[in-house]
Amino acid sequence: GVTITDLHKSYGKVEVLKGIDMRVEPGEVVCLIGPSGSGKSTLLRCINVLETANSGTIEVAGFEATDPDVDLDVMRRHVGMVFQQFNLFPQMSVLENCTIAQTKVLKTPLAKAQEIARDALAKVGLADFADRYPDQLSGGQQQRVAIARALSMQPSLMLFDEPTSALDPETVGDVLGVMRQLADEGMTMIVVTHEMAFAREVADKVVFMDGGVVVEQGDPADVIGDPQHERTQNFLSRVL
Ligand code: ATP
Ligand code: MG
Repeated sequence: GVTITDLHKSYGKVEVLKGIDMRVEPGEVVCLIGPSGSGKSTLLRCINVLETANSGTIEVAGFEATDPDVDLDVMRRHVGMVFQQFNLFPQMSVLENCTIAQTKVLKTPLAKAQEIARDALAKVGLADFADRYPDQLSGGQQQRVAIARALSMQPSLMLFDEPTSALDPETVGDVLGVMRQLADEGMTMIVVTHEMAFAREVADKVVFMDGGVVVEQGDPADVIGDPQHERTQNFLSRVL
């Protein structure tokens, strides 16, 4: 799981996270929603320590991410991240994209790494695409490879930052379907998304952020279906 306590993050003099408290239990799916610039990506990046928080604490998968002495390389093995831009390695096949970190970082023997990678590719519906190259795939397929690549590290937590925002509409459903299946299998997930139907149906909890604070969080039926705060109501009236 993840426990965030009074997290503050500034860029220069501009404070973009102003005391975030949030908890994700093991096996839970939390959807993070909110307007552009509210700090959603910054929060995800702080969880994986791609950004360093100014104050507050983050506990991730049993690691104190905010402890300066934490072994980030070890911690990050437990955390998979999928971005809007898939960032596959273009010169590597789909299979190699899913084995490279296993063999380099985890020192998994190649045959074992390939077995794990093929399982992950089957899970995202791309078992037959192992020998293709990224430029031979649609955007939705590339994003599913990016998910398989993250899963190949066998993480205990997956972070998604608007994974479907750069996709053609007709491929969005496949990616959301894979994420829904992962959720059903009990993966702990934090998902930044504008897909309100997904948040409503799949999330255990929805967190609405605005201006660097959590304005409202709770059951999707409450936060999306019956928001209490005006800022949440305004946001939802624009995206629903
Ligand atoms: P979006 O929905 O557009 O992705 P977001 O909620 O993910 O928005 P963030 O990307 O976390 O928002 O940005 C929060 C604020 O921090 C914004 O005002 C942004 O301009 C600022 N910001 C983000 N990254 C940096 C940076 N590296 N340096 C300075 N300011 C930054
Ligand atoms: Mg963002």
